[in-house]
This record gives sequence, C-alpha cells and structure tokens, in this order.
Amino acid sequence: MKLRSALACLLLAACSTTEHVREPAVAKPVSPASVIQPPRQRSDVIVVCGERIPIGVPVVLWSERGAYDAYSTELRFPAEPPKEIPDGLRYQPGRKVSKGDGTTRLVSLSGTPACSEEARAAVDQFVIHYDVCGTSRQCFKVLHDRRKLSVHFMLDVDGTLYQTLDLSDTAWHARQANSRSVGIEIANIGAYPPGDRTLDEWYPRDEQGPYVRFPAWMKDTGVRTPHFVARPARPERVTGPIHGKSYEMHDLTPQQYATLVKLAAGLCRAFPKLAPDCPRDAQGAVRTDALSDQEFSQFRGILGHFHITADKQDPGPAFDWERFLEAVRAELAGPAPQ
Ligand SMILES: [Zn+2]
Repeated sequence: MKLRSALACLLLAACSTTEHVREPAVAKPVSPASVIQPPRQRSDVIVVCGERIPIGVPVVLWSERGAYDAYSTELRFPAEPPKEIPDGLRYQPGRKVSKGDGTTRLVSLSGTPACSEEARAAVDQFVIHYDVCGTSRQCFKVLHDRRKLSVHFMLDVDGTLYQTLDLSDTAWHARQANSRSVGIEIANIGAYPPGDRTLDEWYPRDEQGPYVRFPAWMKDTGVRTPHFVARPARPERVTGPIHGKSYEMHDLTPQQYATLVKLAAGLCRAFPKLAPDCPRDAQGAVRTDALSDQEFSQFRGILGHFHITADKQDPGPAFDWERFLEAVRAELAGPAPQ
C-alpha cells in the first residue's frame, strides 16, 4: 500500500504542477467557464477491481489521508497499542470463484483481466453489522489493531462512508459469508436485553430527544462532521425479537440510512446477483432468526449478521428493514449516478 500511496502523491503533485505552470499564461481576465480546470478526482465512488463506480454519496477510500486501510499490516493507531499486537494480513486477497464443476477455488483477482467478471460472479450477499463501538474510528481500531479482522465498509454516525478494501478482495467479517459477500459495520452501540444500562449511558435526552454522548475515555471520536450531534432516526427505543429473545436498541441516524441506501443501490448495480431484498418468512415478514444452511446457501441479497449465525444480534431490532429496502428499490428505479 505504501507504493499505491506514493503513486497517488505523485499524481496529485503532477496535477498541481501542471496547473501552476498554466496560470501565468492567462494574459487577461477570462470568464470562469473558459479556465481549464484540472480533472477533479471524484469522491462519490466505490472501488471494485480498481474501477471507480459512482454511488452518489461521498466515500472515503482506504488510500486517502486519515482514512482506514485494511491492506496495511501496521497498527492504525500506534499510540493506542493493544496488549498483543497482531501481525499478518487482516483480509484474504481475492475471492472464491466457482470452477463450473461444482467446486470453488480461491483466486486472487486484483489486476487480472477477468477481475470484474469473476467478482460479479462471486458476490451475491451484502451483510449488515452494527459495530458495538459507537464510531468508525473505534471500530477500525478493534477490528484491525486488535482482532485481526476486516470489513469492506464502515458507516460513521454522521453518514460518512469509509471503504477499506477493494471489493474483489475478501474481508473477514462474517465467517461463512465472507467469500461471497460485501460487509459493512455501522457505528451504533448495539442492542441489549431490556433493563441493561448501556443505552441510558449512551443516549441521554435533551429537549429534542435522545442523542449519542460518547464516553469520556473516547477523547477523539474521529467523526468528520464538526460538532455533529448524532440522533436516532426514531426518537423512541425500538424493542423486538432476535432469535426469539427480546432486545432494545436505538435506531441508526437518518444520515446513516441515507448513505446506506445509496451504497446498497450501488452494490446491487455493481453485482447483478445481489437482490434488493432480505430474508423473509412464509408470510413475507422480515426474518428475525438465522437461516438454515440450505437457506443460506441459496439466499442472494441483503442480510443481517443475525441471519447468518444464531450467536449474533446485529443489526438489531431497530434496523428498519422495510423502510431501507423500499428506499433502495426506489433508488434503483431511478437513473444510476453518472
Ligand atoms: Zn456483526
């Protein structure tokens, strides 16, 4: 990744030099439209096989300054080291690709001519997690610097979206779904059994309702929007069953839903096997339990971590599946971002 970063710096330097040289050549005042602008790097793209695909909301890529790079084997926060420092890769290069004879093989896709085609064939699930960390900064610290894990996207409380890996590579976020999925960790402290004090501590109320109060030990939240106050999309806690047990939780922020809808629509466009729907029961209601092995192997679409394994509750009872999916389908009915 150091090479990629260095290359990006060189390219940026080249652009600014060209512009600098051009300026004195303008002899007299000109209208803004006639000034040649350097090509602007788009910021609303996700990256698949090195290709930049517009999704209509800003994305902070792993190569950018101050971002989160899952390719790195260094600590992201060396000033906050864990007791045991993990080493080695935090992800699996490539994807498991079907070989047509019923078997699959792990193939490194990056830079190969068939990368896009193979990635489109391999990816048919989008797995949604909440991070139980509260911020994307803390989430990356736990995943990368402590647990030797990874996830393609992180979505912070203010709606900032981070991509940490090219989607042709496999992130380690949901065991049996890893090889065929794209994963996202959404900043939220999570769901708890009724009566647990965690939500009281994280969500005090003011005259406008509940808001997130980050704990004092979290000196730097990493949230990019200055003075951002994170408020749940719905003011009341949502209680509901996951795997037959009751949990309560505060909803995501409206900014998170808005970004997630754009990302999900972008993924459905980029990966044609990925359907804009979630696991449902015979009556058409959103499933609140884990799929059987057979159901899981056949499911192509958007699912929660709890749909994959019975020991997880994320993205929890407050995640508003119907509203989210309706918005994704509406987005897909319109023109793709150009
Ligand atoms: Zn999870």
